[in-house]
Amino acid sequence: MTTSREIRLARRPEPGSDATVECFDIVDVTLPEPADGEVVVENHFFSVDPYMRGRMNDVRSYVPPFAVGEPLQGGAVGVVVASRDPKLPEGTVVLSMFGWRERYVAPGSALQPLPPPPPGVSPSAYLGVLGVPGFTAWIGVTLIAPVADGDVVFVSAAAGAVGSIAGQLAPLRGASLVIGSAGSPAKVASLTDEFGYDAGFSHRDGKPGDHLARLAPKGVDVYFDNVGGEQLRAAIDAMRAFGRIALCGSISTGYHGGAGTAIDNLGLAVGKRLTLRGFIVSDHFDQQPEFLAEVGGLLAEGKIATRETVHESLDSAPDAFLGLFAGGDQIGKVVISCGGTGRPAGR
Ligand code: NDP
Repeated sequence: MTTSREIRLARRPEPGSDATVECFDIVDVTLPEPADGEVVVENHFFSVDPYMRGRMNDVRSYVPPFAVGEPLQGGAVGVVVASRDPKLPEGTVVLSMFGWRERYVAPGSALQPLPPPPPGVSPSAYLGVLGVPGFTAWIGVTLIAPVADGDVVFVSAAAGAVGSIAGQLAPLRGASLVIGSAGSPAKVASLTDEFGYDAGFSHRDGKPGDHLARLAPKGVDVYFDNVGGEQLRAAIDAMRAFGRIALCGSISTGYHGGAGTAIDNLGLAVGKRLTLRGFIVSDHFDQQPEFLAEVGGLLAEGKIATRETVHESLDSAPDAFLGLFAGGDQIGKVVISCGGTGRPAGR
């Protein structure tokens, strides 16, 4: 008999309000025996991501809402500990969308076997720099708001999972000045100390527009927008002619469906001939091999800095998730370690 614990959506947050710990239930479960073609997986790491807040609302978006009473879903890296699928023998490391739980039974066809990460790199990198956040950063600076020689680049949520990689890819595309914003002194320090930014500022200290005027007096060519709201407004003011904005996320609205800051200077986009382009990274999976070749290579050569904030145990997941919206010092990719042993069942 295999037991597990999983986190379920206990109830939806109030419309227009932040999520709270009461929205989550941690439940003990007994897993069924795997049928033919199925495997038992023990998760080692799973991801908490801002987009999951949108899935807590009863609103259909580019991904369906989470169901009340059901386990949450999200990226996870685990090890097959019992197998009835010859393609996934015991010991295979797999990527899945069965996060927010310690163990699960699933068809092997729903799982993606993972190659070993570069030496010295944790497999949790497949949830961060080598996973969706790293790919999002790569698509943003490569395709959506391509960075060119001499560009001045501004990235918000710059110490986060996506921003910390976008800020490092920009100079490799030729950026001459890369500025980041973050929400705490430790995060702002990490921008220049760890992630290679030329300058950083706190969006909680003064007006973003004043910081941009000080740090980029000649204006900004590319804005990688992870937050929307006041920083998007300030970036539009600061953009130079033919500037490009990658609309990646709008976390300043909390993804709770409430009203955000009005972007009342969009008229400037006409005269400045700006391009503002929203994107969802899953539309671009055909380019994943190119991304993995470049960023995997940089990682193997130690040319890209990564940071993870790792929380031990499933129980910490709700607070870690809520922390993405509350500010604080979670730097880089936030992952939950389930403490799995990875030993095949019975050994
Ligand atoms: P992060 O690791 O950057 O965590 C989110 C960060 O957002 C927080 O740590 C916080 O940083 C910042 N933040 C939270 N609330 C606010 C606020 N009110 N105003 C300003 N900043 C705030 O998350 P990710 O790197 O995973 O994601 C970054 C963005 O990219 C998110 O908006 C996410 O939804 C989006 N995204 C989009 C994808 C796509 O396909 N378009 C794919 C993946 C992510 P700080 O404390 O520094 O303010």
